[in-house]
Amino acid sequence: MRREYVLTDDQLKMLIEGMKGPPLIMLQCGQPESVQERANRAWVEVGLEAGFDGMTARPVYGKPMQYITAEPLKHDLYAEKDDDAPSSIKDRNGEIVLGLCKRCGQGEGDLEEFCPGRKKL
Ligand SMILES: [Zn+2]
Repeated sequence: MRREYVLTDDQLKMLIEGMKGPPLIMLQCGQPESVQERANRAWVEVGLEAGFDGMTARPVYGKPMQYITAEPLKHDLYAEKDDDAPSSIKDRNGEIVLGLCKRCGQGEGDLEEFCPGRKKL
């Protein structure tokens, strides 16, 4: 189910910078990314920030470029394999007993239906 998102100026800037690609000096190691690969990666990055799946982002016809539709992100909950899971969500045996999203910081009880994206610092 697609939703409409409006990118902030910062997110728009992040997208444009990301599409430009890394400085030339970094291209010496390995295959340079194609324009398409760079664009995809920039969209995924911005999506994590804004709470949508960047690979599904599409412009909205007739609207400025910060208006897009995309599939919303699901929360990325800590799992047993995550060594950096905070102890506040674990029981005495170190098992995770409470849901907590790594990305937005919402915890069990106040998890919204969709992940709003990376927590603003
Ligand atoms: Zn989340």
